Amino acid sequence: MEKALTLEIVTPDKLVLSETVDYVGAPGYEGEFGVLPNHIPFLAALQIGNLYYKAGGRTNYVFVSGGFADISNNKVTILAESAEKAEEIDVERARKAKERAEQRMAQQKEKLDYARAQAALQRAMSRLKAAQHEKAA
Ligand code: ATP
Repeated sequence: MEKALTLEIVTPDKLVLSETVDYVGAPGYEGEFGVLPNHIPFLAALQIGNLYYKAGGRTNYVFVSGGFADISNNKVTILAESAEKAEEIDVERARKAKERAEQRMAQQKEKLDYARAQAALQRAMSRLKAAQHEKAA
């Protein structure tokens, strides 16, 4: 018999989500990977992006700022620095963060931490994308 799969998403601040799901698609560092019930134990690094899960015929999106996914015993645990369900994303804040990052990257400053600005831009763009999915659902 197929067992249920539990998805738990945790940040240093809070438990973002704990649900029984049918499928999880996650933004692995080496590309997206999917998890169905009875998956083999697996540990993966995540990149900034959107995770999605299917439950009750619906697909839901959650922004994750990288981190790790631990899969064992029909449980997917995501540990991330920050994560938000698509419906909880503040679109205006993400737009402003995107603008700030773009402006920073456009400057030709010697001291500019390009990787940091790029990561901020990536987070903002992923948040906007997750919010867009939510609007379309
Ligand atoms: P900002 O510059 O707007 O703070 P950031 O990408 O630097 O964006 P993070 O460091 O990833 O922000 O997150 C800091 C905290 O703010 C986390 O708790 C995160 O969940 C929350 N957060 C950041 N941006 C948003 C957003 N657009 N909507 C909802 N929560 C957000």
